[in-house]
Amino acid sequence: SFIARRNGESVIISTLPPVAAEMGAMQDAAGRAGGNFYFDRADLVSRDITLREGNPLVVKAYLSLSAREAFLEFDLLQVQIFLISIVAIVAILLIGRVGAQRLSTPLRQLAKKAARIAEGDFKQEIQESKSIAEIGELSRAFVSMQQGLAEREEKILYQSSHDVMTGLYNRQFAITRLDQLLADTENSAGFLAVVINVRQFKLINESFGHQIGDLCLMEVAHRLWRHYPDTIAARIAGDEFFLVIPKTGGANELLLQLENHLSGECQIDSLQISLRFSFGVADSSRDGDSASQLLERASIAQDRARREQDAFVFYDHRIEEEHKKRILLLNDLKGALSGESEQLHVYFQPKVGFADTREYRFEALLRWIHPEQGFVSPEYFIPLAEQAGLITRITDWVIEQVVLHLADWKSRGLTASVAINLSAKDLARPGILDLITLLLEQHGLPAAALSFEITESDIMSDAEAAIALLHRFRGQGFDVAIDDFGTGYSSLSQLKHMPVSELKIDKAFVLNLDSSTDDQIIVRSTLLLARQFNLKVVAEGVENQQSLSLLQQWGCHWIQGFYLSKPLPARDILEWMASKPASLANAG
Ligand code: C2E
Ligand code: CA
Ligand code: CA
Repeated sequence: SFIARRNGESVIISTLPPVAAEMGAMQDAAGRAGGNFYFDRADLVSRDITLREGNPLVVKAYLSLSAREAFLEFDLLQVQIFLISIVAIVAILLIGRVGAQRLSTPLRQLAKKAARIAEGDFKQEIQESKSIAEIGELSRAFVSMQQGLAEREEKILYQSSHDVMTGLYNRQFAITRLDQLLADTENSAGFLAVVINVRQFKLINESFGHQIGDLCLMEVAHRLWRHYPDTIAARIAGDEFFLVIPKTGGANELLLQLENHLSGECQIDSLQISLRFSFGVADSSRDGDSASQLLERASIAQDRARREQDAFVFYDHRIEEEHKKRILLLNDLKGALSGESEQLHVYFQPKVGFADTREYRFEALLRWIHPEQGFVSPEYFIPLAEQAGLITRITDWVIEQVVLHLADWKSRGLTASVAINLSAKDLARPGILDLITLLLEQHGLPAAALSFEITESDIMSDAEAAIALLHRFRGQGFDVAIDDFGTGYSSLSQLKHMPVSELKIDKAFVLNLDSSTDDQIIVRSTLLLARQFNLKVVAEGVENQQSLSLLQQWGCHWIQGFYLSKPLPARDILEWMASKPASLANAG
């Protein structure tokens, strides 16, 4: 093409069609003829040669070629590359998606399982993923975690609902299970809720050691398992069990059967320990409609059975009232001990000897005048105080009162000796002896001013410690008597080892001594025995002259009883000492 321009006007002479020629010229004016890509490339590629460049005429020659044709192969190649790229990207995306799915699906499943494990479902099946090794490993770890958690949960559940030693239910779980049972209307015949106490279990523990004690309890549990496999059996306290018996027959037969099943020697190595029980019973058709109420009422009945040494006690509202009364009374006793109300008094009952002596002897006996109920027998409140752990405070109080009275009498020139009753709990505190000696020292009184009485069963409840302490009492110069002799269990051979100087024959054998030949035999042989062991003997409960004469005849040393005097308040003791001789020998 040739283009001539003058003053804005141009003339084109070209071998190209007119439009293409003009475009080629314009493209030249734009500068670049073509880019790398089809779209930003011109149709023609031109080269210009300036033929004349003057003013006002410019003449140029253009050599043009079709760019389309020139770039054809190149463009095709570009299109190929583009298409291949697209295909490659799509393929990569697809492959990635499939791969991700293979990874994420099992992971998502595991996450779901983990959530269910967290909710406490340990039973679900976890499939092991085989396709990817790491995921397989992870799912195996999940399986073992689930198993571990299940086992641990089972163990925790077991421990929170069972007594670990015996494998029976614990109290709480027994209540839960019984409530379920009570809600189940099918069992309309009802149940007996039985609280079972192993009698004298403490003694078993103390005589044979705790290991043997535990084995005995396990034996009881075993017997319950064996004979009552389908019902609720629990251990609710140290030596207390709870059993629910469906009422398939008469209550009495069921209980006799229960006693039969449980009783019998318990053989441990070469030991044969006989197990005895007391049972408290509440009836679901009568005594309550919730498990905890039935259990509580059976417990109240059991408490009564143990105290009265009965085998069975059925709950009855009177027992509960009495139970409540006892608790109230115990509270009042605490108040009486700490208060200023002077409800408690020490009374003194003379013990009179047959041998010639100037020394007056008394036994200190506690009296409680309740502000509303009046006189409350020590036979009633002392065992209560022993049970409630109040007895040591009582003993301390009595000792102090007695020492104060002794000091008072001494200041009046009267010498006396007072016996104080001790309980098992007193013998379990070695400090009591220091307390006593200190108190005596403070008031300038000799050890002979006090002596102590203790029952065989109280000594035996922790024999080793009690005997050790009694040895120390004797070492300090105190007389010690075995109280209520004849009523306990201790064998005569044990008497030899007891650090005591005196026996007190229980009033049960003395009250009817004049008429009962059985009692006469017992008292006489006791006196013979005491002589063998070089022990002095006091007979308590002497109510008439005939008994007194018999006792004197058989060589009894002292007598105590209503025949000589009832227990007297302290204010009457001065008069007693002023008017009566200290011994019957002095009476002339
Ligand atoms: P115990 O130690 O066997 O006391 C003797 C009991 O027999 C006293 O009963 C006494 O009053 C009673 N008695 C004495 N002579 C006769 C009699 O001729 N005929 C009858 N029927 N009874 C007679 P009490 O005072 O009621 O005491 C009962 C029990 O309470 C005592 O039995 C003792 O075990 C306990 N007790 C009393 N005071 C205390 C105390 O201060 N401390 C402790 N630990 N126990 C005490
Ligand atoms: Ca006594
Ligand atoms: Ca007695």
